[in-house]
Amino acid sequence: MSPHVVVIGAGIAGLTAAYSLLADATAPGGRSSRNVTVLEATARVGGRIQSGEFAGHTVDCGADAFLARVPDAVDLCRELGLAHLLTSPVSSSAGVWTRGGLHRLPGGLVLGVPTDLEALAASGIISPDGVARAALDLDRTEWIDGPPGPDPDGVDDQSVGWLIRSRLGDEVFERLVAPLLAGVNAGDADKLSLAAGAGQLASAARIHPSLIVSLRRQLETARAAGADPAAPVFNGLSGGTQLLTDTLHTRILELGGEVRLSAPVTGLHHSDGQWLMETPSGAVAADAVVLALPAAPAAGLLAEHAPQGAADLARLEYASVAMITVAVQRHALGCDLDGSGFLVALTDRLPALTACSWASSKWAHLADPDVAILRVSAGRHGDTAALELDDHALAAAIHHDLGTTMGLDEPFVACRITRWNDALPQFRAGHLGRVRALHDELMAGSAGLTVAGAAHEGLGIPACIRQGRKAALDLAEQGF
Ligand SMILES: Cc1cc2nc3c(=O)[nH]c(=O)nc-3n(C[C@H](O)[C@H](O)[C@H](O)COP(=O)(O)OP(=O)(O)OC[C@H]3O[C@@H](n4cnc5c(N)ncnc54)[C@H](O)[C@@H]3O)c2cc1C
Repeated sequence: MSPHVVVIGAGIAGLTAAYSLLADATAPGGRSSRNVTVLEATARVGGRIQSGEFAGHTVDCGADAFLARVPDAVDLCRELGLAHLLTSPVSSSAGVWTRGGLHRLPGGLVLGVPTDLEALAASGIISPDGVARAALDLDRTEWIDGPPGPDPDGVDDQSVGWLIRSRLGDEVFERLVAPLLAGVNAGDADKLSLAAGAGQLASAARIHPSLIVSLRRQLETARAAGADPAAPVFNGLSGGTQLLTDTLHTRILELGGEVRLSAPVTGLHHSDGQWLMETPSGAVAADAVVLALPAAPAAGLLAEHAPQGAADLARLEYASVAMITVAVQRHALGCDLDGSGFLVALTDRLPALTACSWASSKWAHLADPDVAILRVSAGRHGDTAALELDDHALAAAIHHDLGTTMGLDEPFVACRITRWNDALPQFRAGHLGRVRALHDELMAGSAGLTVAGAAHEGLGIPACIRQGRKAALDLAEQGF
């Protein structure tokens, strides 16, 4: 009898795990010798990934891009036959709203940290005093408080705020690094784990007491190894990111897997070598289980099997956000759309808008001569005032902020609001150490239970894909 594996959760991590389990046990052209079932609480697959028709185009309601410089998402798209739909932003030059205006980000930034101080000064984002403070970092020959710990898994982890404020000063942190990182997790970079939320800065910070010198050396090493500095940082899918999760769904069914929708798992028990899952329509038995869930439901199901890891997961906080997609007449805007959008500095917060992606300038497939499509974010961890507004009032607040920042002076042509509650995990210092401890606890417990997804080793699409693949491999190595 082939083993039966149940994957709980049909987001990108769970779908990748299910697809990998099936594909790895399939002879070319055939059905899988593995028996795989996906149980999903809602009526659709994709989780936080969703695309929909808007103003005559398919526009993402959530994620619209994935890192191109790590292979996971790009490789999976190719494997699924989506290579012809891979696309990269027409313009990657973003701006920041600060000091009363929109300023283009300077060249040479690494996760918001400047490596070119002349470009930084010319950008107008940082005051002359702020640039002088950042330049002090170049003279640093002694570590501040000792170097960040040597353990890349984060045992001696620090916060991003600690590193940047101490090395380059408050202005660089508040006007560049914090807004860039908040664009990823809608969180507070003063509390964000360096190892889990900004791994590139964490490894650079161990090279030299000056962070700028460290990052320059890191860039030189990458160039010497053949990295193309002009290569796109991100890719997207023309046709929408949901094509990725929809195609995974189709492939799972073609390979003989089953996907049950509206099947929330409310309990997970282990007895006589079998895993038993409670669902409203009855119990489901399996030899092995992948939990590809957000932290709260994962913690509930793990409490019996990994109590310490479950308690850590239960404490993981999330940010809620809303994505307000609007179409506006180009002539109603008071600025050129010559970039990919803008972020908002911590020092210059707006009533509702936290970031704005100029979708129809960023992506060639969304270009339109008359109407511009903007994807506007609202809400951040610890600040839900905008999210408490009803749709009508939220749209009005966003319209006001677009008037302030981009000079919009006509009503929206169209507006769509997508609310993502408890969507983005907030990794605190030491997060990766807690993730490793959970894996150890699971390995020491009953065989055949593993986890994957944004709550664990990174919230970006490539990181979720990597974890889905790894969960499948772990179970295969255990003989399932
Ligand atoms: C607005 C927004 C924009 C983003 N933009 C980007 C971006 O541009 N690039 C990028 O890389 N990442 C982006 N992200 C992050 C990325 O989309 C997510 O981190 C990732 O999709 C999470 O995937 P996942 O599989 O771990 O979890 P999820 O997508 O949350 O999937 C978990 C699934 O489990 C299901 N579930 C929950 N409880 C149960 C239960 N008890 N039983 C059964 N099923 C259950 C849920 O319904 C859900 O379908 C963005 C996220 C948001 C919200």
